[in-house]
Amino acid sequence: MSLLPILKYPHKTLAAKTKKIKDSLAPEIQKLIAEMIETMKSAKGAGLAANQVGYSLRLCVIEENGNVFVMINPVITSCSRKKVAMDEGCLSFPGKFISLCRPEKIKVRYLDEKGKKVKIKSDGLLARIIQHEIDHLNGIVITDRLKK
Ligand code: ZN
Repeated sequence: MSLLPILKYPHKTLAAKTKKIKDSLAPEIQKLIAEMIETMKSAKGAGLAANQVGYSLRLCVIEENGNVFVMINPVITSCSRKKVAMDEGCLSFPGKFISLCRPEKIKVRYLDEKGKKVKIKSDGLLARIIQHEIDHLNGIVITDRLKK
């Protein structure tokens, strides 16, 4: 298993919308998931999107409070009206932290690494990381959010 190089802003792959994964159990997807988890841990990141390592696919990995989440084709199905401000960092913007306002709570559905459908409600840090990673999958980075 190898660590993957993390693309830095303003690499054009970070600005492109990613493609849905058709076969989550395909060996190349399973290999990518394992390598992304290793890369995220090694970089001490809380999350990593596939397009941050050069694969334009709807896949992200997240580590929060010791739990690793693999999210394939994630979709936010609802979010709270209440928004909160929180500092966000990003492995594609080393050393940069930006305070952003986002919904406090979200519901998200996705396929896990076994191809199983999962629906979760989340708030706090996990909700924040999920929204940040799904932004990546839509070609949006933290500095784009700042402009809005
Ligand atoms: Zn990021």
